[in-house]
Amino acid sequence: MARKFFVGGNFKMNGTIESVKAIVNNLNEAKLDPNTEVVIAPPALYLLLVREHLKNGIQVAAQNVFDKPNGAYTGEISVSQLKDSGINWSILGHSERRTILKESDEVVASKTKVATEGGISVIWCCGESLEERESGNTISVIEGQLAAVAAKIDNWKNVVIAYEPIWAIGTGKVATVQQAQEVHAAIRKWLKANVSETVAAETRILYGGSVNGKNCKELAHEEDIDGFLVGGASLKPEFVDIINANQ
Ligand code: PEP
Repeated sequence: MARKFFVGGNFKMNGTIESVKAIVNNLNEAKLDPNTEVVIAPPALYLLLVREHLKNGIQVAAQNVFDKPNGAYTGEISVSQLKDSGINWSILGHSERRTILKESDEVVASKTKVATEGGISVIWCCGESLEERESGNTISVIEGQLAAVAAKIDNWKNVVIAYEPIWAIGTGKVATVQQAQEVHAAIRKWLKANVSETVAAETRILYGGSVNGKNCKELAHEEDIDGFLVGGASLKPEFVDIINANQ
């Protein structure tokens, strides 16, 4: 089965009602590659606004979801609340949550389990720090993150993997095509050996880290790069060029 090209936009904690509406209007009016699946993740406060104004065909993701049902969890958002609001996706395990908010591999895996079992598709992020790369541990770090999530989930149909080297996020330092392809191929190999051949063949693996309108086409041509998770550039008009990178 061919893997449909996928582009996610992670607004992070950016934007105002006015600027988010402008991004939505830009996407609504743009000519987007019909062969690319597009999902945008505004801050939680703007999820409903975006869902209401965004044209059909573009999906909306939360940037996080909690792994407990509704209840006394101040500040958190549940799977059922997302579904109630028409939001069917969540980013999980973004490196900013892993590092700044100290989410462990296990917490990320638990959230991924609860989300996927509850009907929320997940953009599951992994990636190494600069120190881990320079000490030659990139693949073992990624494999550890994969092992934690694979221990908790059975159904990979609603999971998209985003490989995001931490040193490339928001830094303007994009991984080379070879560096990205090498890790993507290693992720696929790991899935084949540890989950199944089908999951390895069908799961989309996105690259994230300083992707922009200029570098996206070269990356998109690589065999194991099935799309992008985009931070900074998803707030700009060039996001459309990234969505259309596979044309
Ligand atoms: C991200 O936050 O997922 C990301 C890849 O950010 P940027 O594109 O800004 O590097």
